[in-house]
Amino acid sequence: MQKIIDKLYNERSLSRDEYLALIKGFSPENAEKLAELARQRAKESYQNKIFIRGLIEISNICKNDCLYCGIRRSNKNADRYRLTKEEILECCDEGYPLGFRTFVMQGGEDSYFNDERVCDIVSNIKRIYPDVAVTLSLGERSYESYKALKEAGADRYLLRHETATCEHYARLHPSELTLGNRIRCLNDLKSLGYQVGCGFMVESPYQTEENLAADLKFIEEFSPEMCGIGPFIPHIDTPFRDEKAGSAELTCYLLSIIRIMKPNILLPATTALGSIAEDGRLKGILSGANVVMPNLSPYSVRKKYSLYNNKLHTGAESAEALDELKRQVASIGYEVVTDKGNYKEI
Ligand code: SAH
Repeated sequence: MQKIIDKLYNERSLSRDEYLALIKGFSPENAEKLAELARQRAKESYQNKIFIRGLIEISNICKNDCLYCGIRRSNKNADRYRLTKEEILECCDEGYPLGFRTFVMQGGEDSYFNDERVCDIVSNIKRIYPDVAVTLSLGERSYESYKALKEAGADRYLLRHETATCEHYARLHPSELTLGNRIRCLNDLKSLGYQVGCGFMVESPYQTEENLAADLKFIEEFSPEMCGIGPFIPHIDTPFRDEKAGSAELTCYLLSIIRIMKPNILLPATTALGSIAEDGRLKGILSGANVVMPNLSPYSVRKKYSLYNNKLHTGAESAEALDELKRQVASIGYEVVTDKGNYKEI
């Protein structure tokens, strides 16, 4: 085990079997060992800085039917909404004075948000606030669409690969969604010059240790600028309602491995991690994460963007409670900064 940890630290590359051994070696002692190396790595690149992103959930209308997701098309109990351009710009007006310099627009795959509408919103945000970064997380689109959004001013794009194993992908998604197209999107985004984020859920249904090893190898090779990982959490109105939630401990262990492998990666302590465990986001930071994404959506819609049950949407999770988040982060020796928080090239 120690040999593999040393190799990960020094060479930042392992074989799939070595990643598998690392995953099988998950124990509290090894977790602490990896977390310490991960904190050291994060500090070399980003000191004790924690970047914040204002998350604006623009629509919970979605044409897809992902089996794990609470806003899937066939969930008839979801109370659907979409924000107007004006509402989205108001979220930015609220976030900017609080210190947010990145706005993330995330949503279901809602055809209302076509290129023309998203480009208009993105270019308006960039015109009003030239010193912010705009991140999009609007699912799978065509190369031409990603190109238009980039030209309108979008800087980054988050699109989790969800799992790097085709068979596993097929058990989490309906047949019209394929890993191949997901990867095509990620490659398109990269070739267009976006800072790109991939990622996956930890302990999603049917996930094996081999699947996780494949995810780590994929991240090593794709080398994204950002990586979002969080525990799977069941949603009552999905086919996975009776499945077990993923653990915060394994999520943190994987965060540490990713940080050691990719010293400069932008690695969020996700809302799902914060929702599953007391102080989950702080534990994520202590495992090597350097980003948090407080919720900046209008208060009235927050409950409706329900990807999974018991999703945090108040308290230190929300943008208004940024002071509380700052205090918590400071209590473990880190500092929330007002910064675009771009990826740092090595
Ligand atoms: N439609 C966009 C945004 C998806 S929501 C897209 O396709 O990228 C963002 C992420 O939430 C998803 O990529 C997924 O990994 C995560 N998610 C969805 N349902 C979840 C659940 N039940 N538990 C944990 N994470 C979930």
